Amino acid sequence: MTEHSDTGFSTRAIHAGQEPDPQTGAVVPAIYQVSTYKQDGVGGLRGGYEYSRSANPTRTALEECLAALEGGARGFAFASGLAGQDTVIRSLLTPGDHVVVPSDAYGGTYRLFNKVARPWGVEHTITSIHDVEAVRAAIRPGQTRIVWVETPTNPLLGIADIAALAEVAHEAGALLAVDNTFATPYLQQPLSLGADIVMHSTTKYCGGHSDVVGGAVVVAESVSVPGFEDAADRIAFHQNSMGAVAGPFDAWLVLRGLKTLAVRMDRHCDNAEKVVAFLQGRDDVTAVHYPGLEGHPGHAVAAKQMRRFGGMVSFQVTGGEQRAVDVCGATSVWTLGESLGGVESLIEHPGRMTHASVAGTELEVPADLIRLSVGIEDVDDLIADLAAALDKTA
Ligand SMILES: *Cc1c(COP(=O)(O)O)cnc(C)c1O
Repeated sequence: MTEHSDTGFSTRAIHAGQEPDPQTGAVVPAIYQVSTYKQDGVGGLRGGYEYSRSANPTRTALEECLAALEGGARGFAFASGLAGQDTVIRSLLTPGDHVVVPSDAYGGTYRLFNKVARPWGVEHTITSIHDVEAVRAAIRPGQTRIVWVETPTNPLLGIADIAALAEVAHEAGALLAVDNTFATPYLQQPLSLGADIVMHSTTKYCGGHSDVVGGAVVVAESVSVPGFEDAADRIAFHQNSMGAVAGPFDAWLVLRGLKTLAVRMDRHCDNAEKVVAFLQGRDDVTAVHYPGLEGHPGHAVAAKQMRRFGGMVSFQVTGGEQRAVDVCGATSVWTLGESLGGVESLIEHPGRMTHASVAGTELEVPADLIRLSVGIEDVDDLIADLAAALDKTA
């Protein structure tokens, strides 16, 4: 078990991997901005540190903290979310293997499977992962090695039943890998529901301040799918061999962000719930997508596997694509921009921005959709600004 495994979430976020420095008593891990380490005689490594691609103390602190927060055996920190996902794909798959990919996967993940992994020989089938039977049908017995899940999904906030999909994947001899970026380990812990691997874009909520790009992979205590028992060792080997590691300062920023993850997520959720209630009261809003709503198709599953429902909301407006684009350009407290999960509220038009790369594919999103990353500002200001933008563009 990882360090502090018997303590609460925020205690782990603040202390796991981060004992005060034995020499100085500094309560925060140092930024070890260093590439190499003095050896005490050839091969006499202090603490195992040899070269910072292989290991760096600031990165180690983050990796231990991530593993403790997700309840896994080992954590790995990468230069970006996609670098972590690429490392998972190339560590665990070989040409000829097959993956089941969600129909509303993050656009960059889909591009990685479609434009990078596929030419390399890894095939995929796109399916609605909200439908357990559809996933079962998409699996190719003996060939499918990973069932890839994102929940909630981006940008439509679809929900996948992690426990049910873990069973389906394992029956077929495949791993269940979950992108937990939207939920964060505070709201949802996929490994405790049977998943084998959890991934994050730490750029988003884990970092939480829109000041760093990073990724994380955490592997479960025990992976029992035949052929994958050594999954953590394979990822460790590839992390070093391919080298897409988080730098010391980036690792430090994510570690700093994690300390306040729980309090930030609670405020993101409080504010999102109020913004959702406001949107539901508008005649010019035709649909609101939020898993906390009882009418949301994934509500029951979300209520079972999530602590709360998160800070991401999307909605559709009357007036079609042009109105949606106009609303995105008419706010002042909400910043028009890509990405999500920071303390500041963001608004964007997925069809033309984050999801432009999936236009014309099975992953295309509605043209009148607006996505919100609800920040932790005063919610009355957020609602007044949205109301003004909707009124101005009516
Ligand atoms: C942003 C994001 C990624 C990609 O992470 P990067 O840090 O941008 O490489 C993957 N999955 C989800 C759900 C994301 O939101």
